[in-house]
Amino acid sequence: MTDRTVLYGIGVSAGTASGPVAVVTPAVGIDEHEQPCTDPDADGERVVAVLEEVSASLTARAEHANSETSKAVLEATAALAKDRGLVRGIKKELKKGTGVTKAVHDAVEAYAAKFRKLGGYMAERVTDLYDIRDRATARLRGVPEPGVPALEVPSVLVANDLAPAETATLDPALVVGIVTEAGGATSHTAILAAQLGIPAAVQVKGITEALVDAPAIALDGGVGEVIVAPNESDVAELEERSRRRAAALAGSSGEGATRDGYRVKLLANIGTADDAAKASGYDLEGSGLFRTEFLFLDRDSAPSVEEQTETYTKVLRAFGDRRVVVRTLDAGADKPLSFADLGEEENPALGRRGLRLSMAREDLLDDQLKALAAAHKAVPEAELWVMAPMVATVEETRWFTERARAHGLPKVGVMVETPAAAIRSSHILDIADFASIGTNDLSQYTMAADRMQGELAELLTPWQPATLAMIRETCRGGEATGKSIGVCGEAGGDPLMALVLVGLGVSSLSMAPGKVNAVRAALRLHDRDTCRQMANFAVDAPTAKEARENVLKIADPVLRDLL
Ligand code: PEP
Ligand code: MG
Repeated sequence: MTDRTVLYGIGVSAGTASGPVAVVTPAVGIDEHEQPCTDPDADGERVVAVLEEVSASLTARAEHANSETSKAVLEATAALAKDRGLVRGIKKELKKGTGVTKAVHDAVEAYAAKFRKLGGYMAERVTDLYDIRDRATARLRGVPEPGVPALEVPSVLVANDLAPAETATLDPALVVGIVTEAGGATSHTAILAAQLGIPAAVQVKGITEALVDAPAIALDGGVGEVIVAPNESDVAELEERSRRRAAALAGSSGEGATRDGYRVKLLANIGTADDAAKASGYDLEGSGLFRTEFLFLDRDSAPSVEEQTETYTKVLRAFGDRRVVVRTLDAGADKPLSFADLGEEENPALGRRGLRLSMAREDLLDDQLKALAAAHKAVPEAELWVMAPMVATVEETRWFTERARAHGLPKVGVMVETPAAAIRSSHILDIADFASIGTNDLSQYTMAADRMQGELAELLTPWQPATLAMIRETCRGGEATGKSIGVCGEAGGDPLMALVLVGLGVSSLSMAPGKVNAVRAALRLHDRDTCRQMANFAVDAPTAKEARENVLKIADPVLRDLL
């Protein structure tokens, strides 16, 4: 019988859960006894056939996916299984005489190394590549594909990492919690779990080892706490936390505002028209970030102006007269586009991404702006705002705003995601109508830490005083020019950080729709002066840890129930 063990990771989807453990079937790996390849053509055909089967089974799962995002992730993995470069790599291995399962592993490893080198979004897709490898290997060895076991009772899923293909099709009625040993706060698993509303913790080091024979497991996906073999009082304590959370959330409705009535718009981050339809049903005030690149990724050619107009019109309609902040194409680096490839770069995150790519491919931006203007004409009651990603200079701001205004777009702004834009925000805001802080990238560039690296989580937390100082500078520019500053990075969805952001001068927060209630409740518990005091405490703290602790000390005690 396993002893009770408490482990901590990163909480990525709030809520508590407990139940029997369901371990995700591990992959079987290379067949150590396989024969070397003597007939590369025949073995090559066999592998291609298996990859086709894997792709077909992923496509079938995509059809049953429970959201557009899940569907897109599964379809992308299905397409990757038939990637010609991958197949070529495997055939090359077979020609060397390598046995089939080893050929698959070696070729995938070489491909994964290329993806890692590209960094960002491509590096995240290494998980998808390994998923394909493991499914193909299992089929080649004649054993069942690895993955989630068939569940009969509500259970907590435990895995080293969970492939998107697995996460996307989980049934929240049967999977009540997710715990993974690996994975990062911005991994597919984390994003999809939050979208499905399943409490989840990632980077829980030692969980797979601690689990041996454990009958049950409990977790708090808000703080990232995991209890292996919990006792009755653990389960009762988690249930109590859940009750307290529900009580703290009770009555959280209506417009966002501090206790003394300072208005803070609460908005949703969306990526598709389907997301817009769902988010518009929530009690929130619009969308503060529509990541339009989701319309472009995994396509061989850009969508036409007509197709884009149709999608944007749907999004604007979904929100009626509420605000929708559309971000123009943020491609390159972590989100490469096959039809706008500017060539290989040594450091893609520092390369021609975001607005820089739009400047190299003006045609893509112009089509997008044209489509946005047409959509606005179709839904004139919409409060349409448009902004550019990855802006660093006044010239870039001027270039973008002039272009967008020439298309008749009424409110044109920029994202503040670089330290350069943060410390020069008043100059930028002399030109732009508003700014929205992308804390994910602003953290990455302030701290020189790749945002996709789970291991760098401590540098990437928005509680880093250096990052907070950047946000303060941005807000000072907003104050000096009378322009509004929002936050649309992940930081905005953290109820405690939201208070600091408001104290710094932010007037809108955009986040995953499921996080709005907790942020609204946190705001209602505090007045603006307390938020300002919190902001000073946080920026003046010597370390990120102290910044958070100092703020928590002066927060209303009920706030802890919201975390
Ligand atoms: C950000 O960088 O914080 C942001 C909102 O943009 P994305 O996460 O899409 O890069
Ligand atoms: Mg960004």
